[in-house]
Amino acid sequence: MNAAPADQIRLLDLQAIDSKLDQLAHRRRSLPEHAEIEKATADHTALKDLVVAAQAQQGDTARELTKAEQDVEQVRARSARNQQRLDSGAITSPKDLENLQHEIGSLAKRQGDLEEVVLEIMERLESAQTRVTELTARLEHSSVVLKEAEARRDAAFAEIDGEAERVRRERETVAVVIPADLLKLYTRLREQQGGVGAARLFQRRCEGCRVEFAVSDLNAIKAEPKDAVVRCDNCGRILVRTAESGI
Ligand SMILES: [Zn+2]
Repeated sequence: MNAAPADQIRLLDLQAIDSKLDQLAHRRRSLPEHAEIEKATADHTALKDLVVAAQAQQGDTARELTKAEQDVEQVRARSARNQQRLDSGAITSPKDLENLQHEIGSLAKRQGDLEEVVLEIMERLESAQTRVTELTARLEHSSVVLKEAEARRDAAFAEIDGEAERVRRERETVAVVIPADLLKLYTRLREQQGGVGAARLFQRRCEGCRVEFAVSDLNAIKAEPKDAVVRCDNCGRILVRTAESGI
């Protein structure tokens, strides 16, 4: 393949531009914010589940409290009815009086036990409410952390994408003047060779693979016509001769 030396030099410009675009794409992929967002999202999801579970616990405990308070109220009402009957003087049989007094005594003990239960549930309800409050605060904080990381990522994206857009426009102006067959070869080699399709011959080395050429190889390259497209024997990349090539 042949190409004017100036077009070969332009290929090096294109390579520099493509490498810059690759770097920008790599920077976009490797932003530290990606890992931060992933972690913050996982934290947020886990906290959301914990809040839901804590709220369910709070609801269950509140219902348990209502039920226990109703139990106390029932015993208290029954005890009051018995006390009224006793105070009314309507019961005269000593055995009935004894039974009634005995029941009033039992109900008082029962009421005391049930009030203990109410107190214990109230303590648990308070703990459940505290847990909901704490977890809700942590959930809100995790939202803020997530949003901040997303905002930083988006700002970095905007900067990188703006730069990439500018570089792509520059690429168009360079690529349009390079002969199609040379461009095609470069594109194929770039895909095969980790993003570098054209390399400068600089101080006796291929800048693509860094191999240093023996004098005999250099003489062979030197003997090639100026418009011959030379390839590196070692890596196969297009080897571009410039004024600094040392030949
Ligand atoms: Zn090479």
